[in-house]
Amino acid sequence: MRKKSHYVITGTIELKSGTRIGGSDDILQIGGTDLTCIKDPVTGKPYIPGSSLKGKMRSELEKYHGRFGRNNPNEPCGCAQENCPVCRVFGPHKKVDHGLGPTRILVRDAPLLEGGEIELKSETAIARTSGAAQRGSLRTLERVVPGSKFALEIGLQVFDLDEKFTYEDEEENTVQGGAALYQVVCHGLDLIEQTGIGGGTSKGYGAVEITIEKAVEVKRRKKCPQPSASAE
Ligand SMILES: [Zn+2]
Repeated sequence: MRKKSHYVITGTIELKSGTRIGGSDDILQIGGTDLTCIKDPVTGKPYIPGSSLKGKMRSELEKYHGRFGRNNPNEPCGCAQENCPVCRVFGPHKKVDHGLGPTRILVRDAPLLEGGEIELKSETAIARTSGAAQRGSLRTLERVVPGSKFALEIGLQVFDLDEKFTYEDEEENTVQGGAALYQVVCHGLDLIEQTGIGGGTSKGYGAVEITIEKAVEVKRRKKCPQPSASAE
């Protein structure tokens, strides 16, 4: 197995509605404490963890391809089949012994570029049976305001093992190799736009617009400086 090239994909993620980054719907419980957004400990500004973006891309692609819970219910795909785009790009879930090679995708944390103010939103829990607001159920959530922009950066490793791998591009043309891996990433980002990121997407939170501004396939080594003769 040999690495053939490396894609660097950069762009922006713009929030279209208030977003609860790092939030999970599971922790929305009655009487719960205030829910805070994920913030960089140094700058105090919100950011989008690479792991969240990667997880969301993976689960959306699994749903699209009917791969979620394929082996075990409620678990990501671990089929390790040659033609599974999810296992090839993200790695087969919990499978150690497989021939697909290393995880191809590397998703960086997305730092804040613009905006990033936090808004507080009060929510009331509603009883499922009666539809009535529950007593003492008001809580406050932190959301990052719409219009905030984050820097997207994704790396993608292409191996000789990928030569025969195919995927469809946005115009339904079949592409192969590194170009096919790149299309899996583009598709995953597109599917995130359809659903959103963070907690409460079913209520309209976390709508995003993702723009890929540049994709470079790096095939050569970076130039290093010429050594100069010592002064002595
Ligand atoms: Zn799979």
